[in-house]
Amino acid sequence: MVFVHGDARNMIHQHDAIVVGAGIAGLTAALKTAETCDVAVVSKVHATRSHSGAAQGGIAASLGNEEDDSWEWHMFDTVKGSDYLADQDVVEILAREAPRAIYVLEYMGVPFSRNKEGKIAQRPFGGHTINFGEAPVKRACYASDRTGRVIMDTLYDQCSVQGVNIYNEVFVISLLISDSRCCGVTGYDLATGETEIFHAKAVMLATGGCGRIFRTTSNGYASTGDGFALAIDAGVPLEDMEFIQFHPTGIHGLGVLISEATRGEGGVLRNGSGERFMERYAPTLKDLAPRDIVSRAILTEIQEGRGVGGSDYIHLDLTALGRQRLEQKLPEVTSFVTTYVGVDPSESPIPVAPTCHYIMGGIPTDGDGQVLTDEKATPMLGLYAAGECACVSVHGANRLGCNSLIDLVVFGGRAGIAMAKYVKETTLPQLPQDAEATLSRGFDCLLESNGKERVSGIRGKMQRVMMEKCSVFRDRKGLKHVLDEIRNLKRAYGNLSLTHKERTFNYELEEALELENMLKTAEVMALSALKREESRGAHHRSDFPERNDESWLKHTLVSQTKGLQLRYKPVTVTRFQPKERRY
Ligand SMILES: Cc1cc2nc3c(=O)[nH]c(=O)nc-3n(C[C@H](O)[C@H](O)[C@H](O)COP(=O)(O)OP(=O)(O)OC[C@H]3O[C@@H](n4cnc5c(N)ncnc54)[C@H](O)[C@@H]3O)c2cc1C
Repeated sequence: MVFVHGDARNMIHQHDAIVVGAGIAGLTAALKTAETCDVAVVSKVHATRSHSGAAQGGIAASLGNEEDDSWEWHMFDTVKGSDYLADQDVVEILAREAPRAIYVLEYMGVPFSRNKEGKIAQRPFGGHTINFGEAPVKRACYASDRTGRVIMDTLYDQCSVQGVNIYNEVFVISLLISDSRCCGVTGYDLATGETEIFHAKAVMLATGGCGRIFRTTSNGYASTGDGFALAIDAGVPLEDMEFIQFHPTGIHGLGVLISEATRGEGGVLRNGSGERFMERYAPTLKDLAPRDIVSRAILTEIQEGRGVGGSDYIHLDLTALGRQRLEQKLPEVTSFVTTYVGVDPSESPIPVAPTCHYIMGGIPTDGDGQVLTDEKATPMLGLYAAGECACVSVHGANRLGCNSLIDLVVFGGRAGIAMAKYVKETTLPQLPQDAEATLSRGFDCLLESNGKERVSGIRGKMQRVMMEKCSVFRDRKGLKHVLDEIRNLKRAYGNLSLTHKERTFNYELEEALELENMLKTAEVMALSALKREESRGAHHRSDFPERNDESWLKHTLVSQTKGLQLRYKPVTVTRFQPKERRY
């Protein structure tokens, strides 16, 4: 039932549960919750334009349709890929439940590509191996190179059939907390600029990643880390935010992603002299080593003068695949390369360099999406999270390709079930007394702001400094500089001015809110990275180049209480003791 009251300026919607975010995590959760409850999804972009729709390469599950595979191998690869920082109890859930999750998607209607036997086709992807690391295994299920697109569209259809309410183009500004329970969110309608309150027994955050904090990224414009800021403002810590993945193959200068599926299908990386250099860095898996290793290898080649023509990129060579295979297996990639680079990938190599792609850290949750507020696992009642904005943590210090999509459906689904159960057992909390007044006041203040700074100026400076000093290679001096600069930019934000003061589709206003969220997130990233004095997975400190399990086999937690506070919590190790990572 939808219950609406309030005047036009402060409409109040009431549902059993609210999901913020309409990507694959949000829609999967909403579908599960909708089986027994009235659920609404709120999304700042039209639901089907969520970044999940851009996922190309595939979704990992040990179906064993092409060759022998097992969930234990998938679990091992994920733990080793994470540089042993992932919590192994939840990785076990991921690997065990993955095959069933794929069949559920198939029954819903996802048109996966097929092999000759008519089974779901699978291809190799970085870091996924047979028999605990022996050789690459075909574990990635796919629908040519439109895997995310077809899953998104199928879930959206199912949500329509199941009566999930979807509020498109509504920007969520804050979480409502009453008596330490989450009881809704505030937001505004992008089309009208009117503020709204969504009152519910439970809220789930599924707001995706934050690649837009960096100058070069594969992420869409909406990936601005809003969920991280919503959480930290509500007193929830953020976990392991120093671990940011750079994907090895973004189109040089643009960052647009060229899927790892290209290497899964047989593409190779070559330096300026045409050498297949990954053989030197990862003799067994070569071009299919995990992303942190390949990205560092590429940048090392470039720094040592072996980029193409001495420049800051290397080549991804797909010419051996031939035109027919490219058109059949990688049509999107082929069209991107033709459009953005102006070359035919069946004839010419593609100039590529690492691009910011994914954040391993996020809002701490247990295996059922329940948000946790400290190292003792104290829950924030009524608040759930799943998908890229959450940190369960299954990806630890580095995520393997195709493990995000499976994380979204496995843990999105589990969070949806847990939320439905909670909703049935609880009553609707009161809204905080001043919710409506505070919302209107804050919003009007921003619209009327009259300082000297512009959104684009502050954002550009943030993206540059994060890219230069907080990306693939880091050190203490650089990270201190980043932290100072982000704090200066936060002060500059206080002196902001919006050129456009109207409410209707005011993109400058939306960008201002996103910038504030990115600055808060960037500060947590830089602080977490500065404090972690070791190298692990995607976090590489040139001044501490070794992994240090004795001091650092632990998760970082940063929360906002009179400034940022750091705490740590142990990693759950069950089956696989940390070992040196060789590929
Ligand atoms: C180009 C690309 C290719 C990829 N390919 C693969 C792949 O092949 N395999 C794989 O496993 N992974 C892949 N990934 C990673 C994976 O796609 C993402 O991690 C995943 O889709 C994130 O899904 P999500 O549901 O968490 O959030 P998203 O799909 O990012 O959706 C976020 C949602 O939150 C909403 N939102 C955010 N902030 C607000 C706010 N303030 N108010 C209201 N709504 C808000 C947005 O509107 C959106 O609906 C790829 C990523 C990229 C960028």
